[in-house]
Amino acid sequence: MQNFTYTANPGRILFGFGTLEKLAGEIRAAGMTRVLLLSTPHQADQVQAVAKSLGDLSAGVFSDARMHTPAEVTERALKSLKSLRADGIVSLGGGSTIGLGKALALRTNLPQIVIPTTYAGSEMTPILGETTDGVKRTLRSDEVLPETVLYDVELTMGLPVEMSGLSGMNAVAHAVEALYCKEANPITSLIAAEGIRALTGALPRIAQDGADREARSDALYGAWLCGTCLGTVGMALHHKLCHAIGGAFDTPHAATHAIVLPHALAYTAPAIPEVMTRLGETLGCDDPALRLYEIGHEIGAPDGLKALGMPEDGIARIVELSLRDPYWNPRPLERDALTRLLEDAYHGHPPQRH
Ligand code: NAD
Repeated sequence: MQNFTYTANPGRILFGFGTLEKLAGEIRAAGMTRVLLLSTPHQADQVQAVAKSLGDLSAGVFSDARMHTPAEVTERALKSLKSLRADGIVSLGGGSTIGLGKALALRTNLPQIVIPTTYAGSEMTPILGETTDGVKRTLRSDEVLPETVLYDVELTMGLPVEMSGLSGMNAVAHAVEALYCKEANPITSLIAAEGIRALTGALPRIAQDGADREARSDALYGAWLCGTCLGTVGMALHHKLCHAIGGAFDTPHAATHAIVLPHALAYTAPAIPEVMTRLGETLGCDDPALRLYEIGHEIGAPDGLKALGMPEDGIARIVELSLRDPYWNPRPLERDALTRLLEDAYHGHPPQRH
C-alpha cells in the first residue's frame, strides 16, 4: 500500500424516491427559517411548486440561474436574497443552479440544501466556476460545499434521455480519472469503482427506456459517487484535453467528455496496469477503453469531435495547449501519441494504444 492522503467532505445525504417530501424537515433541522429557492428559467414552475409546499419556510424564488454562473446573475440573486431576508439557500436543478447556490454561499456564508436533478455532480464538490466579462475562473473552497444534499430519483425521471447519457458519461470520466490521478487513494478508488459500475450499467438501460425506475435510481446513485470523486481528488489528462477543447472550440461540455474518455484512457493504459485490471472487473470486459467507447455508442454520443464542430486543424492546437500547461498524468504527455489520440477522437474511431 502506498502512502496517501484522504480528505472527506462534510455533508448529509438523503437518497431515494420521494425524498423531496423531507425538505421542510431538513430546512428546520439545518436551523433555517426562510429559504431562497433557486432554479433555471426552465425549472421555474417546478421550484415554485416546491416553494408553495414549504409555506412560511419559503422566503421566495429566484429562477434565473444560467450556465457557467455569470457574476451579473449572482449579483441579482444576492440582492433578492438580502431583500427577502433569507437565512438559507435551496438549489433545485443541475450544475448551473447549484453553481449559483454555491456563489451565494461563498458571499453570504449561508447554509445550502441542494436537490440535484442531473448527473453532473457539482453538489459533491468544493469547486465553483464563475464567469465575469466572458472569462470563466474556477476556485476551490470548502465554503461552497452544501450542508445537505437531497437526491430524489423521482425528479430525474424527466431528464431527457440524451442529456442523461451524456451527463452520466461526464460523471463516469470523473471516477475513471480518480483511479489514476496524482491524489488517488484507496477510499476514493472504492467510491470510483462503485460509481462507474452503477452508472455504466444504468446508462444504456436509460437510453432504451427513460422511464426505467431502477436504472434511474442506479444512475443517480452512481452520479453521487462519481461527484464525490471529483470533490476529493484532482484529475488528469482526460480533463485537461476536454477543458482545452471546450475552451478553444466551445464544444458542449458533457459530449466532449463522452467522446474523449475512451481515448484518454487507452493512452494512459500502459502506465496503469492495475487500474486497467480493476476497470476490466468493474465493467466486466477485457478492454475497458473499448467498452467505454461502446457505451458511448449505446447512449447515442455524437460520432467524434468532428460531429461537435471542432475543425480538424484544431488537433494541433489542442496538442500545443496540452503540452504547454499539462496536468499530471501517469503516462507523460508525448506529442505524437497525443496527436494520434486526438485524431481517433476527432474521427470517432475506436480507441487504440499509440
Ligand atoms: P444544467 O444545470 O445547465 O441544466 C441544463 C438544462 O436542463 C437546464 O435548463 C435545466 O433546468 C434542465 N434540467 C435540469 N434537470 C432537469 C430534469 N431533471 N428534467 C428536465 N430538465 C432538467 O446542466 P448540468 O449538466 O447539470 O450542469 C452544467 C454546468 O455545471 C456547467 O456549467 C458545468 O461547468 C457545471 N458543473 C460544475 C461542477 C463543479 O464541481 N463545480 C461539476 C459538474 C458540472
